[in-house]
Amino acid sequence: MQFQEKALLVYGKLLEMHGEIPHLPRREPMHELISTMLSHRTNGRNEDLAYARMWERFGSWEAIRDAPVAELVEAISPANYPEVKAPNIQKALDSIIAERGEARIDFLAELPTDEALQWLVKLPGVGVKTATLTLLFCFGKPVLPVDTHLHRVSGRLGLIGAKVSAEKAHDQLLALLPLDAHVLFNFHIGMLKHGQKICVWREPRCAKCALTEICDYFQEHHT
Ligand code: SF4
Repeated sequence: MQFQEKALLVYGKLLEMHGEIPHLPRREPMHELISTMLSHRTNGRNEDLAYARMWERFGSWEAIRDAPVAELVEAISPANYPEVKAPNIQKALDSIIAERGEARIDFLAELPTDEALQWLVKLPGVGVKTATLTLLFCFGKPVLPVDTHLHRVSGRLGLIGAKVSAEKAHDQLLALLPLDAHVLFNFHIGMLKHGQKICVWREPRCAKCALTEICDYFQEHHT
């Protein structure tokens, strides 16, 4: 089976298993960007808590940028690695405000996708995952954020090679799917839910999975 055909089959099964949702911006772009920086190796609840505490303590992007770093570390401490994230957030804010004159990134909507991606990944602490998530979720750009769940599930299915990094998987998976923000959004959400509920890290629950027939991992381990 061709990889593209397999990716589309996976997409269809994911929709059947986990549903299809409209692609709507869930958060204001600066909120999405900074919250996603906080989310690295952190669950959603603690990401939200860290963001809320930061905002409650400082009240503006300028105040967050100018805060003593130790205070920002303390405020975002529900997130993991706060001592790394705090200086990165301050440097990213400094860079955005210096270039744009304000803490806003709405202008990215008008840029071609590649240009917008390159602009975001130049910010300190912003990698391809954070940049693509911001571009897809806020601006409907046709990119595919690859987090730990997408990376693991894609590898098990055989959509990407076993040794392909999450960063490289972004381009490889994108090449297999239609360049359509709605499809890419629902593929991302479906794979995320699948990785959280069924194709979990330690022991995938293959008995509950509708992808067994086209899954390399299942074919290798259960047939
Ligand atoms: S068959 Fe098993 S390993 Fe393959 S995607 Fe489903 S849960 Fe994951």
